[in-house]
Amino acid sequence: MTRVAVNGATGRMGKTVIETAADRDLEVVVGFDVASGEVDGVPVVDSDDIAGTLTEYDVDVVVDFSIPESTLPLAAACAETGTALVVGTTGFDEDGVARLDDASEEAPLLKATNFSQGIQVLNRLVSEAVATLDDYDLELMESHHNGKVDAPSGTANTLLETIQEKRDVEPVYGREGHAPREDDEIGVFARRAGDIRGEHELILAGNDEVLSLSHRAEDRGVFAAGALDAAAWLDGRDPGWYDFGAVVDA
Ligand code: NAD
Repeated sequence: MTRVAVNGATGRMGKTVIETAADRDLEVVVGFDVASGEVDGVPVVDSDDIAGTLTEYDVDVVVDFSIPESTLPLAAACAETGTALVVGTTGFDEDGVARLDDASEEAPLLKATNFSQGIQVLNRLVSEAVATLDDYDLELMESHHNGKVDAPSGTANTLLETIQEKRDVEPVYGREGHAPREDDEIGVFARRAGDIRGEHELILAGNDEVLSLSHRAEDRGVFAAGALDAAAWLDGRDPGWYDFGAVVDA
């Protein structure tokens, strides 16, 4: 059975991952967070020797939903011990992504800004729609709970990258005052309210019609299930950088 550690174990996603794993063929053996304790019987430690703790608990895969400042030393520890790492945390800058890439040379690493299968499919539909309706105006919207710290969401940024592979559009983040629309722009909007799990919508408008492609996560369990699917899939693989699309297609 795959032995899993959860980083960010007492956070919204960390707790959900631990709860979701209880119904699966995986065993969460330890959690990491900034304070020690326990979640659903899983010991949570505030470790200053992550590599040592990974070895002590004989961890096969770490599932990470925390903050980039925590993920980066974790990735270095996984590289040191050869432990597989599933990264769900969002908000990395270029240097952060480069450091994760370095870690993936020593241990298998799978990073996704969104672990729902629906978003994987949305991303593929967006690619086709943007390429086909190549002169329609594009506007991208996302909504999340009021505790989310990065904006736009990692998922919105991933959708934007997909769009930019097909169309040469520049993002305009919100609009204010005199802000006439340029042909080569895409408006990007982030809303933060209540406990919204995650909503994303791309509209393509032109030719007297509007196409709307949207996704709504109804429970954090969808991301936890996807991350645990990724953990099971990643266990035992060679070092390298892997995408969630491969897990969905498996
Ligand atoms: P949260 O704030 O509820 O939880 C984050 C946890 O990380 C907290 O418990 C915090 O104490 C912990 N943490 C901070 N520093 C740490 C450290 N040094 N070591 C260990 N733990 C530390 O946030 P959340 O809603 O659970 O989201 C976490 C991340 O996951 C965010 O980046 C969010 O965007 C991302 N997310 C990704 C997906 C996906 O499918 N990829 C889905 C939901 C959320």
